[in-house]
Amino acid sequence: MNQPNAPLRLLDLAPAALREQVAAWGQPAYRADQLYQWLYQRLAVDPAEMSNLPASLRQRLAEEAQIELLTPAAESVSSDGHTTKTLFRLHDGQLIETVLMRYDRRNTLCISSQAGCAMGCTFCATAQMGLQRNLTPGEIVAQVLYFERWLRQQGDERTAARAGSGGKESPAAAHASHLTPHASRVSNIVVMGMGEPLANYANLWQALRTLVDPAGFGLGARKITVSTVGLVPGIDRFAEEELQINLAVSLHAPNDALRATLTPINRRYPIAELIAACRRYVARTHRRISFEYAMMAGINDTPALAEELAALLHGLLCHVNLIPLNPVVGSPFQPSRRADVDAFVAILEAHGIPTTLRLRRGIDINAGCGQLRARVAQSTRTPSAG
Ligand code: SF4
Repeated sequence: MNQPNAPLRLLDLAPAALREQVAAWGQPAYRADQLYQWLYQRLAVDPAEMSNLPASLRQRLAEEAQIELLTPAAESVSSDGHTTKTLFRLHDGQLIETVLMRYDRRNTLCISSQAGCAMGCTFCATAQMGLQRNLTPGEIVAQVLYFERWLRQQGDERTAARAGSGGKESPAAAHASHLTPHASRVSNIVVMGMGEPLANYANLWQALRTLVDPAGFGLGARKITVSTVGLVPGIDRFAEEELQINLAVSLHAPNDALRATLTPINRRYPIAELIAACRRYVARTHRRISFEYAMMAGINDTPALAEELAALLHGLLCHVNLIPLNPVVGSPFQPSRRADVDAFVAILEAHGIPTTLRLRRGIDINAGCGQLRARVAQSTRTPSAG
């Protein structure tokens, strides 16, 4: 994974590889466990902080290894302050996006799995850059660690401010704590940012295992959702995994003719095959599957399509998330009107399909996937603009 002479990127190493590396440095196995803890629990970025490691190992880490893999290149915060989107530059100049959403008593992080994407969805800004490359396991995990550090720091600052004011919170801090009571931790992760996660399967799963490992980052598997545009072999593989990570499928249309115009992968895996794979997944795991449906005005939001969708999903243990589209500048696709969305919801519910209308988060900060990257690439002409 590392180039010759490139620093050893520690976050890319699975626990067994980390143990081998620490052994190669002449250290006992328990040092690897301590290092693992520093990386994923104590969130260290500098070997000098690792106070229980011997000086010789800390020096080796400082000379040969790299911990931080992401350089923030741009950031936008929504006008309500609840959504933060950060554009990160990777070691080779690639740009990826991560979005933190602080709503509903949760800190949900939307992370990327690839730089760019090969899937070519016609309504998506990321599709326009094509696939640049897969993210490494470390680059996937690093997005979570970055925001976890940021949240913990905010939590520490609030605690210090409270202590400094004799235990009383300022009105602003009290307001913020009411909005985000879990301010100091990432509480949920959705792999719905740039890229098709199941097209980067091995790296994704190495990252997910670290994130749920109680000795690693330690987030509950059920707090994580992986979203696919519909790679059938990947769904079958996902169904065999032991971790109870949630699966979401971006459906966007209930028939092949329409879906193929929105998501070209539908030509390879038509709806009948996709839904059959979803039924296999539910039969194998007994877990509910989510369907994401981006509501686009005049495209996929008619009552007739709602009826067709209800018939397609009949009898399947599932949940439909309707998300009015985050519009891309210059794109013909626009979000559905509220009245059309409400009518769509009513039809699905009348057929007994559990449905949630998701609010569009961070609409004023280009929070749809690929949009901040496109804006920054346009204004800075970064070398990675695909
Ligand atoms: S919507 Fe998702 S799968 Fe489709 S092109 Fe964009 S990033 Fe890729």
